[in-house]
Amino acid sequence: MSNIEQKEFENASTGSRQDLTRKKSGGRFKKRIIFSAIVLSCTALIMSGAAMNSYFSVSAPQGNGASIVTPKLAGFNESSRILEGLASENDNNGHNETNTASPEADKPAHSEEPPSATENKAAKSAPKVAYLTFDDGPGPYTDKIVEILNQHSIHATFFVIGNQLKGYEDSVKAASGSGNYIGLHSMTHNKKNLYESGSSAYFIKEFKREQKMVEKITGHSPSLIRAPYGSKPQINKKFRDDIVESGFKMWDWTVDSKDWQHTGKPDKVLQEIKRQVHRDVEVILFHEKKQTVEALPQIIDYLTNKGYAFAVYKPDRHFSVNFANDSRL
Ligand SMILES: [Zn+2]
Repeated sequence: MSNIEQKEFENASTGSRQDLTRKKSGGRFKKRIIFSAIVLSCTALIMSGAAMNSYFSVSAPQGNGASIVTPKLAGFNESSRILEGLASENDNNGHNETNTASPEADKPAHSEEPPSATENKAAKSAPKVAYLTFDDGPGPYTDKIVEILNQHSIHATFFVIGNQLKGYEDSVKAASGSGNYIGLHSMTHNKKNLYESGSSAYFIKEFKREQKMVEKITGHSPSLIRAPYGSKPQINKKFRDDIVESGFKMWDWTVDSKDWQHTGKPDKVLQEIKRQVHRDVEVILFHEKKQTVEALPQIIDYLTNKGYAFAVYKPDRHFSVNFANDSRL
């Protein structure tokens, strides 16, 4: 603000006596009009900035009734921080994404790096956001998970298995209808089928087939997939090229709840969340398991108390979350 503008600003706030004085001077009056125009332009800029900042649609849990808020977030800065902090998880057993062999995998690679001035400022003004993701459904717990999410007025992202859709069409439709995102988790979840050939052809075929099935149920054609067992190490560069070409986006996660290991022990699932969650944006891997359902209300409360809001995947606001840090996915 120039000296003249500053003076005008002071004048404007000191009442009618000075107004009368100012009206005697045509030049000053003109300046005042120019200044008003500047103030209006600034207001317009600030308002458009606020619109830009609602980059993510975030649901904050409320006591009663659905309430969607769009707090200011750091936007794209967040995705780079997620990529830096991404865990790499391997799996070589069973039907789940991870094993116990990598307990330190959630440690961010560059956590000691001081953030730049811009990032620092963004971090201070941005609320923390948790994306809850539930794999391996639909199944007997889908409705209950959706019910808990609804009770807290929040949404989550589900990665469903195509071969399990039959008989759970209503659950998937209801989950989608309540504002949750239904993503794809392959038809078979079969490691041999999906990865053994080394080629992406069968993998992509399964996801394309499942995409059509989910669209038929929900009316939405999902673009976001999660590779069974995570993308590392089974998905290499060539494989990723093919996924990109097929038009899919692929999410791994930043926090692995290891819920599938803790049958009958919901407290262990909560403990794992407490141990791992620390980033401004977390994408948390859960499975549709009994112990996960039992721990979920406490996990939501814990994250809320830690200052997290909850967000659901939005295709038009996509950001990358994959172990290879491949920004195309
Ligand atoms: Zn899975």
